[in-house]
Amino acid sequence: MKPAPFDYHAPESVAESVALLDEHGDDAKPLAGGQSLVPMLAMRLTRFEHIVDLNRVDELFGVAVGNGGVRIGAMTRQAVVETDAAVAERVPLLHLASPHIGHFQIRNRGTIGGSVAHADPASEYPAVMLALDGVAEIASASGTREASAAEFFESTFMTAVAPNELLVALRFPSWERPAGFAFDEIARRSGDFALAGAAVGIGTDGQGRINRAAVGMLGVGPTPRRAASVEAALMGLAAADADAAEIGRLAADDMDPVGDVHASAEYRRRAGSTLVGRVLADALAQLRKEAGDG
Ligand SMILES: Cc1cc2nc3c(=O)[nH]c(=O)nc-3n(C[C@H](O)[C@H](O)[C@H](O)COP(=O)(O)OP(=O)(O)OC[C@H]3O[C@@H](n4cnc5c(N)ncnc54)[C@H](O)[C@@H]3O)c2cc1C
Repeated sequence: MKPAPFDYHAPESVAESVALLDEHGDDAKPLAGGQSLVPMLAMRLTRFEHIVDLNRVDELFGVAVGNGGVRIGAMTRQAVVETDAAVAERVPLLHLASPHIGHFQIRNRGTIGGSVAHADPASEYPAVMLALDGVAEIASASGTREASAAEFFESTFMTAVAPNELLVALRFPSWERPAGFAFDEIARRSGDFALAGAAVGIGTDGQGRINRAAVGMLGVGPTPRRAASVEAALMGLAAADADAAEIGRLAADDMDPVGDVHASAEYRRRAGSTLVGRVLADALAQLRKEAGDG
């Protein structure tokens, strides 16, 4: 099928892009990698009078290190996030999550900003952003503002970015070391969207006690979810004593799964909480390795 006709705009700056979005409001839609938007237009699941192509806006591309973390431009391709050395070193969860996104052809075009702005609850980056308390930089014709990950994901495919706004960049904090990170998901076939997934980060103090825990989940609710019960149970524990399987089961309390043609809600809850335990065990093993006792 072909999309309904639209006017195509190719701005070269953020200022030009937000001016177009401001002028056309609900009738306009930004185009990033096109891996979600183009199929939806082609299948006529959606239509817009104006498409604002961001692919020539150079200032939206790239990874920058600073201010205790990493800032990633919204148009940075998922394949760049996957292979960038600074991202792998400073925000390992993004590096670990990336290969789970579709296939490499999709990651070559798809962008981190598109993935987060699309806000599919089964997507990898939104769950990582939520787990790590990432921050979204959002621009409009009247200026820029920030949204925390907790404010950003409002409901399925709905975010804090208004139709006249543009997601400009995402910021992720770098954790002090030693720390352990792990990501995994359950999917019917490699490359499919996850039925359930988990992103875990664990940090310890000088005595080996857990003083930082971040657990993000995907596919187990209408938005990405945070396993607050698991995080609370981990805090203060000696990392060596943590029973990952038992603590992981607490994650079921933080899920709000929706059943669909791919899996029932009950399957997502049970498989998801078992998975959280496994990913937690992997993160603890990684932590021991980094701390030099594993
Ligand atoms: C076969 C297949 C398998 C896939 N598997 C996965 C998977 O396992 N996991 C996963 O996460 N994704 C998967 N995807 C989706 C893929 O990751 C997309 O790249 C991603 O969801 C959207 O990124 P994009 O850059 O292509 O954005 P687009 O498709 O161009 O845009 C997506 C939406 O975000 C909006 N948008 C984009 N950029 C901005 C911005 N800067 N500011 C405001 N709004 C913006 C657009 O207007 C649109 O509404 C898959 C896609 C396909 C085709």
